[in-house]
Amino acid sequence: MSDKQKLLVVEDETTLRETLMYNLKREGYEVIGTGDGSEALELAREQKFDLIVLDVMLPSLDGLSIVRILRKEQRTPIVLLTARSGEVDRIMGLETGADDYIVKPFSLGEFLARVRAVLRRAAPEVSAKLEAGDLSLDLIGRKAYRGGEELRLSHKEFDLLAALIKNTGTALSRDRLLQEVWGYDFPGDTRTVDVHIRWLREKIEKDAAEPKHIVTVRGVGYRFE
Ligand code: CA
Repeated sequence: MSDKQKLLVVEDETTLRETLMYNLKREGYEVIGTGDGSEALELAREQKFDLIVLDVMLPSLDGLSIVRILRKEQRTPIVLLTARSGEVDRIMGLETGADDYIVKPFSLGEFLARVRAVLRRAAPEVSAKLEAGDLSLDLIGRKAYRGGEELRLSHKEFDLLAALIKNTGTALSRDRLLQEVWGYDFPGDTRTVDVHIRWLREKIEKDAAEPKHIVTVRGVGYRFE
């Protein structure tokens, strides 16, 4: 498994596509490329990308149509490449849902800066805050609140609660929680999880003896409700 961010580059001018791909790879991204609109749509549906660089004029299916279709299905950030500045008004006026655009010809430095900016804008939105009922977690400030009041959680309690809320409705085994919160190399055993769950329940449940949020799933582990 790779933790590299994965980008799709859709551009039918082969030299430009290869140049962009080469430089994005050098920046440390995993990059897949195509010059065909229909193939781009297929790829975007089959694989998960962190960002799509999309030329407007493409064979078989144009970039603006691709954006319109994808926006009904996913929120993957899209940066449009357009040949004429005259197209920009139309692109933005149509409110296609693209996150940014670059007018050709552009410098590589400008292109890479735009890509980085869009990725940066996209990332915190999905991961900065977790909410579940009257609980909310600020993942950047590492603060937890219940009904607006800050909870005093230890480092591990915070991580454990975040892991549970991220998987709301799914039963998580003690081993899985150990791996997610303590890491693979942690020498402790699964009772560590039980102890921290007990502490966490005392802090977040109205009645720790009758937990409504962190439910025990017999033979498996715990589930957040
Ligand atoms: Ca083109």
